[in-house]
Amino acid sequence: MSRIDLSALIAAVADTVSAHAEELTALDQAIGDGDHGLNMKRGFEAVRAESVALAEKPLPDALKAIGTKLVMTVGGASGPLFGTLFLTLGKELPTEPDRTELAAAFGKAVDAVAARGKSQAGQKTMLDVLYPVQAALAAGRTGAEIADAADTAAEATKPLKAIRGRASFLGDRSIGHVDPGARSSALIVRAITKTLERG
Ligand code: ADP
Ligand code: MG
Repeated sequence: MSRIDLSALIAAVADTVSAHAEELTALDQAIGDGDHGLNMKRGFEAVRAESVALAEKPLPDALKAIGTKLVMTVGGASGPLFGTLFLTLGKELPTEPDRTELAAAFGKAVDAVAARGKSQAGQKTMLDVLYPVQAALAAGRTGAEIADAADTAAEATKPLKAIRGRASFLGDRSIGHVDPGARSSALIVRAITKTLERG
């Protein structure tokens, strides 16, 4: 995993986000304002549009540029949060990370998202996927296992009551729906692990 094909990763993530945009929008229509699919699609397609230039940069610089782009283009609450995730990964990762370095950097990135969102696990947000992914990564799970853990974790947001973000305005009425940001996080994780395992 020392050499990472960044343009393949960007393409895989943009493909899945765009292919699932309607699903993400429908999830956000249920407990938010219905813009999550479009927000994410706009952001990751903007990243894709720059993937040639991004792939030429050292990994940390590319990740920082992706984070900045996401902050500028995704919008909503999730833009700054996903932006923070990638910006922190860029700050924490060496140019050719090993598995241990990846797990450590991802842990710091998820903590940075939590700090930015003033949120924690169990509040029906993307963190409810990102923390289990970090745990699976640190435990040495395979890419497929990590992706499955992410899907299970996203599904497990359904019975939760939202405490953070727009969905929290619904109180108990947020119960019974998967959190859109948790679902988009799981989609991104699967695209990344699948692409890394192929290479
Ligand atoms: P908005 O809620 O502004 O319309 P989006 O629809 O793009 O933004 O994103 C909503 C998602 O952002 C939620 O499903 C949730 O996962 C995530 N989110 C919102 N607020 C927070 C927060 N404070 N901490 C962590 N994640 C959050
Ligand atoms: Mg929304």
